[in-house]
Amino acid sequence: MNDPANSSPSPVLPAGEPVPYLDLAAQMRPLRAEVDAAIAAALDRCSFVLGPDVAAFEREFAAVCGAQHCVAFNSGTSALHVALRLLDIGPGDEVITTPYTFVATSWAIRYVGARPVYVDIDDQTFNLDPLKVGRAITPRTKAMLPVHLYGQPCALGPLLEICQHAGIPLVEDAAQAHGALYGGRPVGALGRLGAFSFYPGKNLGAYGEGGALTMNDDALAARARSLRDHGSTRRYYHDELGYNYRMEGLQGAILRVKLQRLAAWTAARRRVARRYQELLADTPLRLPQEAEGSQSVWHLFVVRHPDRDALKAHLEAAGIGCALHYPLPLHLQKCFADLGYREGDFPVAEQTARECLALPIYPELTDAQIERVVAVIKGFFQR
Ligand SMILES: *Cc1c(COP(=O)(O)O)cnc(C)c1O
Repeated sequence: MNDPANSSPSPVLPAGEPVPYLDLAAQMRPLRAEVDAAIAAALDRCSFVLGPDVAAFEREFAAVCGAQHCVAFNSGTSALHVALRLLDIGPGDEVITTPYTFVATSWAIRYVGARPVYVDIDDQTFNLDPLKVGRAITPRTKAMLPVHLYGQPCALGPLLEICQHAGIPLVEDAAQAHGALYGGRPVGALGRLGAFSFYPGKNLGAYGEGGALTMNDDALAARARSLRDHGSTRRYYHDELGYNYRMEGLQGAILRVKLQRLAAWTAARRRVARRYQELLADTPLRLPQEAEGSQSVWHLFVVRHPDRDALKAHLEAAGIGCALHYPLPLHLQKCFADLGYREGDFPVAEQTARECLALPIYPELTDAQIERVVAVIKGFFQR
């Protein structure tokens, strides 16, 4: 820890000083004047739903994702739901997906009446294991829905190859991975559709709910705009079953301000992750690693240890925020009991759920805060 190459001028955080798991106030402070002005301008325009700010945000976010189109939604969950509607997936169809993610990934599949078919995750990356996917494909498989979990791109190359062989589309759940790179290219437009969330705690967060779909297909984009707006392209004429999934004008205005910071925030998250990796290297924790050829945006920094519950209690007692993402894999959730999965079906996901612990990570986390988190963790192993 005293390696001069790693030394930082920051003072040591006083013992007992808490480190919050997430600190949205720290992010808001330097943005406040600009956000206030953007909100005031949006209020003056009275474009409360969709409107020019949302349209401008769609263009700017599409560019960041290297996508031809971005269609904004009122949440990531809505965007995922519409993605599966766009692919005409419905009852009797199967969608291959991961059991180790936030529940909304699977909601989309259930909302259209299809069946999630889970495949276990890779032990290194926390993402869908391409080596296990082949066995899960049946004549009823209509799509694959992998997640870029914690900001780390999934194995898109191998997964896209499998999809191509099977003749099915791949939808990226990129809700945690704004700006992540796979083979040097941003995620979101590498499969048929990409779904993003702008929930406040995500790497790019609205001040409320928000989401988006990205794609390189004009017809899919046009239909996505219709589906989010009551299935209509002309007011009071409705072509198909639609939804009220529109983004609010204020969220578009706020997201435009925040999008300008995304690259700097990602660089700061990557720096925090590197610092944790250096400082925690000599502990018994299993540390998250970046997969070869991809750049994670480090939405979360998730370590693993068999004595996770005791470590979590130790951190909390010292005022260090930490969290479980996710304590129970989806195949064991009560809401999906009808799918018939059992404990033992996906051993890697199950063990990860028992051992995972997410540490504080956000662009504003200081060196002193990182060092305090590390010192408390080292204290746990010196007991
Ligand atoms: C947050 C999240 C969603 C859902 O997004 P909301 O905007 O909260 O509806 C979907 N999938 C993953 C992996 C997420 O993390």
